[in-house]
Amino acid sequence: LRPAARRFMSTAMMSQWSAVKEQYPNHIVFFRMGDFFELFHEDAEKMSQLLGITLSSRGKGKGKDVPLAGFPHFAIDSYLERVVRAGYMVVIVEQTGEGSSNSKLRHREVVRIETPATLTNDGYLDPRRNNFLCAVYKSSDGQKTGVAWTDVSTGEFWCCSSDDKLLEADIYRIHPVQIIVRSRKDISVDVIHRLFMVTEASDFKLSDTVSAEKTIASSSTRLQSLSHEESHACSMILSFLIATQKLVPHLQEPARFVRSAVLHIDASSRRSLEILKSQNGDRETSLLSAIDLTRTGPGSRLLASRICSPSTDLSEIKMRLSNVQHFVDLGESVRKKVMSVLDACSDLERSTFRLVNLRGGPRDLVAVGQTLARCADLQSLLNTQDFHFPCLRELMHQLQSALHPDAVEKTLESGGYIRSGFNEVLDQRRRTLEGAKEIVASLQAKYRSMTGIPNLVVEENAMWCAVKKSHGPKMEILKNFTLIGSTKEVYRYSSSELLRVSGELTLAKRGTVEIESDIFTDLVGFVSQHIRDLLSSAHLLAEIDFYCGAAELAVTHHYCRPDIVLQPILEVHQGRHPVVESVHAKRGLSFSPNSVDLNESAPFWLITGANMGGKSTFLRQNAIICIMAQAGMFVPATSCRIGVVDKLFSRVGASDDLARDQSTFMVEMLETASILSNCSPSSLVICDELGRGTSPEDGVAISQAVLEDLLLRAKCRTLFATHFLKLSSLSARYPSLLCFSFGVDASRPQPVFSHKLVRGPARSSYGIIVSRLAGLPEAVTNRAQALLKASEASASLNPAPVIGSEKILLENLIHFISSFDPDSHTPKQAHHFAYQLRQML
Ligand code: ADP
Repeated sequence: LRPAARRFMSTAMMSQWSAVKEQYPNHIVFFRMGDFFELFHEDAEKMSQLLGITLSSRGKGKGKDVPLAGFPHFAIDSYLERVVRAGYMVVIVEQTGEGSSNSKLRHREVVRIETPATLTNDGYLDPRRNNFLCAVYKSSDGQKTGVAWTDVSTGEFWCCSSDDKLLEADIYRIHPVQIIVRSRKDISVDVIHRLFMVTEASDFKLSDTVSAEKTIASSSTRLQSLSHEESHACSMILSFLIATQKLVPHLQEPARFVRSAVLHIDASSRRSLEILKSQNGDRETSLLSAIDLTRTGPGSRLLASRICSPSTDLSEIKMRLSNVQHFVDLGESVRKKVMSVLDACSDLERSTFRLVNLRGGPRDLVAVGQTLARCADLQSLLNTQDFHFPCLRELMHQLQSALHPDAVEKTLESGGYIRSGFNEVLDQRRRTLEGAKEIVASLQAKYRSMTGIPNLVVEENAMWCAVKKSHGPKMEILKNFTLIGSTKEVYRYSSSELLRVSGELTLAKRGTVEIESDIFTDLVGFVSQHIRDLLSSAHLLAEIDFYCGAAELAVTHHYCRPDIVLQPILEVHQGRHPVVESVHAKRGLSFSPNSVDLNESAPFWLITGANMGGKSTFLRQNAIICIMAQAGMFVPATSCRIGVVDKLFSRVGASDDLARDQSTFMVEMLETASILSNCSPSSLVICDELGRGTSPEDGVAISQAVLEDLLLRAKCRTLFATHFLKLSSLSARYPSLLCFSFGVDASRPQPVFSHKLVRGPARSSYGIIVSRLAGLPEAVTNRAQALLKASEASASLNPAPVIGSEKILLENLIHFISSFDPDSHTPKQAHHFAYQLRQML
């Protein structure tokens, strides 16, 4: 077993480990012992299962054997990734000194703590997603909430003020991998605790880091202009990073997120519209994956951020759309060339930030150098002032002349990433090393001839020489050689001569690695000096990728450029649902386009029709078209005019929300309440099957009341799908409400859904037809048909009044009477009108 681990019995070492564990009881401790990282006690038990490493036990801790598991130190990255990915936080304890002369115990200290939000290596991160760390600060009186978020790998840093109601939408929009709070109670929304990793700041001893506060106070002028709660949230982020990374992180200045500048989409609408993930957590069937034709990680991240936070700024949206148009107009062949240059680009943003945060390696320098060369290629391809890269020629040449062509495969420890000819001292050392290698080769030849063993091998660092076991006796001829070990097939010998040569080799090698490392540090310094221009280049690359991808999508899928205006309209001609359409296309099925026309005189469409007719698809497709248009993309339609939407509400698909532990009906009502209290005349509401989770009478009553509130008070654009056919009669009362339906051709043996929206209410809810289609036994469907007939007959004898509160009734009456012009109606129509009036009472 590993010798260092065996010595764990030493109580002094045990107490070193226990001291760390006591400080970080909720973390996994990677404890460096010699060439291994060891895990003890419950950490060892948990991690041996997760990582598949052997669990053993050694020594005595409090009279019991101590479970332990470990892995070689050089393998730390891959183990760390797996542990953090599984949702743990890891404390890394390194040996940092020799210890005092009278004690053999090495000094050890926590060198850093890794969590899902701090890891920045490419192997761990998803290139196409941000990796946000979020902090939620709540003032002690509970009145003020500040939210800050950063992606350490890209340096983005944002903050905003929030409140209990907005927080859930904020968290869903940001979609962080970790949230830090002062106390778990600061986030009252239960579902956030269940779906996100929430950690208390006290887990990281943030209070110890007085330096964080000082750094913040001195480093950022922008922070001082933020509100009290915003700057506190930003401080929490910085303190967390200082406490875990043990260095002041290099981030961009925190920018204030302007709520009114982006389309507000609440948490449940985000879930139901399946923007980043489908409802079952699957990414492949999300909106993002259906419309993402970007070629680079940063381009895809920009797309994700734009569809998560579409703009409400008319000129910004128009500018984005004209950029997409530019790439459409470039034509296919230039677009393809742009895409192939993009394919050759690395993640400039992440490499730059890894380097300036001292977590980078040679591979990142290569990425920066090569991507700068690609920027120059793009500049000449696009040849426009709109996409103008800053000049970084000097940095690019410096990197290209310093880095070896194979540098991407090298590490700081291995060396070999600096080109020969770049640094004279390095070249000199390398020559020495080459000389030493020749010595190794000549030793090998000498020993072979002395022993007569043709395949005797001297290890490349002259640590030992090895011979097949059958040749063992022949080695006796060499004086001063001692057997130092064996494997299954060979014996290994060492000698004073080999030891001397290997010592020289190690020295020469260490020398070159050190010189290369100094050059690396200089190059990183050079990169840091250009950080501003590097980030502008990285951002421009991401933008070009976004526009080029959106243009390619528009051309290949026949999308149109939306016309964005300020009036509250939604005119979509022949619109499609991008996700359903692409799923259908894969199965060889076609998608039936449908149009919508909401405007100031008719902002409300009531949609009825058979189950499976296409109602929710239609509702969602219009919400998605608005999102895409305001993100600055072309949309799946033949033409489209949209008045900027300020807030989008989507009450679609009632399903028991297990994460919330609430019934379908309760979830429905909570969501509806939030819509009614937050929507404005510039909002878009899509509402599907309201009132399904309660009795039909309740359902109709609630649906009508909600419908009237949206129509008469909120006056926002609304698409309202319902299976309560009765509600269609409201179109006679409210001229601004139009009825549409999805029909079914029930005359055929197998009913056919046309998925075509037509004017007018549905004639039946076709529930029995659909139940037949689903294979309900014929006896049951026949009985249902008979019952339906009987109930329709009794309803017509005693028609149930449409329900409304007194006030609404009064408002309705006023509205109804004032919209009736006696001069333009025949006496018969006036007679009918009088009857309608009576029926309303
Ligand atoms: P409803 O809400 O009326 O029950 P859905 O919108 O859920 O109906 O649609 C049911 C199924 O019909 C969907 O899964 C989809 O595959 C298909 N569908 C919906 N709309 C269309 C359309 N416009 N063209 C083609 N297929 C459609």
